[in-house]
Amino acid sequence: MRRVVILGSTGSVGTQALDVVRRHPDRFEVVGLAAATSHELLMGQIREFMPPVVAVSNEASAQDLRFAIKGLRGVEVLGGSEAAEQLARESEADMVLNAMVGGVGLGPTLAALQSGKMLALANKESLIVGGELVMDLVKGEPERLVPVDSEHAALAQCLRGEHREDLDSVTITASGGPFRGWSREEMARASVKETLAHPKWKMGRKITVDSATLMNKGFEVIEAHFMFGLEYSKIDVVVHPESIVHGLAEFTDGSVIAQLSAPDMRLPIQLALAYPDRLGSGIETLDLTRIGSLTFEPVDHEAFPALELAFRAGRLGQTFPAAMNAANEVAVAAFLDKKIPLTRISEIVDRVVDEHQPAEIVSVVTLERADAFARQRAAELIETA
Ligand code: MG
Repeated sequence: MRRVVILGSTGSVGTQALDVVRRHPDRFEVVGLAAATSHELLMGQIREFMPPVVAVSNEASAQDLRFAIKGLRGVEVLGGSEAAEQLARESEADMVLNAMVGGVGLGPTLAALQSGKMLALANKESLIVGGELVMDLVKGEPERLVPVDSEHAALAQCLRGEHREDLDSVTITASGGPFRGWSREEMARASVKETLAHPKWKMGRKITVDSATLMNKGFEVIEAHFMFGLEYSKIDVVVHPESIVHGLAEFTDGSVIAQLSAPDMRLPIQLALAYPDRLGSGIETLDLTRIGSLTFEPVDHEAFPALELAFRAGRLGQTFPAAMNAANEVAVAAFLDKKIPLTRISEIVDRVVDEHQPAEIVSVVTLERADAFARQRAAELIETA
């Protein structure tokens, strides 16, 4: 029985993770849930899974929740901006699934690893912001960090049983999102609704916008750099509209191993929760003759500058990726609020990265400074649009 904490339990990955738990009650026990605020969905999860601890991100929500679950015995409610981190650190879990959204996921990621737990990482922003700090904590025991992102789950499967020194390079695929083939001018007029209509993957709002700009793919390049210890020149991205091949590992002898499956997040989520076992995931089986052909094309960097921007920030290192992430979070929120056009997101992020004064990452405090600068500067640029 694996005891799991799920951070971000009411989001897309969180709810699908609870589906996995529901499917395999003999394998998993939920010992903690965290969500941004309390609402009906969280209440239902508490009643169903009866976790001993629940965390919400502010004290007012915690008060509401304590009132609402009065009568449920043995459920403690933590509230405040540090509540998820406290849950990750102090719970009796074997594994923490971090499915929070944004750079706020870094604290809980570090807390889970510092307290000796396994971490199933869906919150890629924690690696973008604090990759050095995170990887320091799993030095010598890489199996404590398990990817949930489909591309990285694919690569980890390609690498199972292989010697890491035999790996030459990796390729991750991108569906291309809803605007594949669009020009930058056309994308400048894209609505929020069009942007959120991803053709292949069902995901939360923030990551769906990141997927439409390809910033998400840029984040995944940085994620792969840290997770698999690869130079940026050894990480490639190709557009693959069918989203059947998720990642490919090329070895020093010229062999390429790829992982294929239907585009369904329940598979990587289940692989992470059950690591290193494989369980039934309920996803559609692959019928290659029905699919017929798999196609691949290069990324249109002119239309999607965010990918190269992420490569640049990743190569520069230090606090550049943290600044890039923070500026992106602010710009994406402004786009969702209909304050700026879609194409303005990468322009703002580019500008903030250019202006950023980098620092060596010595602690979380260094990162918080970079984050604060980038948020403020991005907000100013949005106002002066
Ligand atoms: Mg992905």
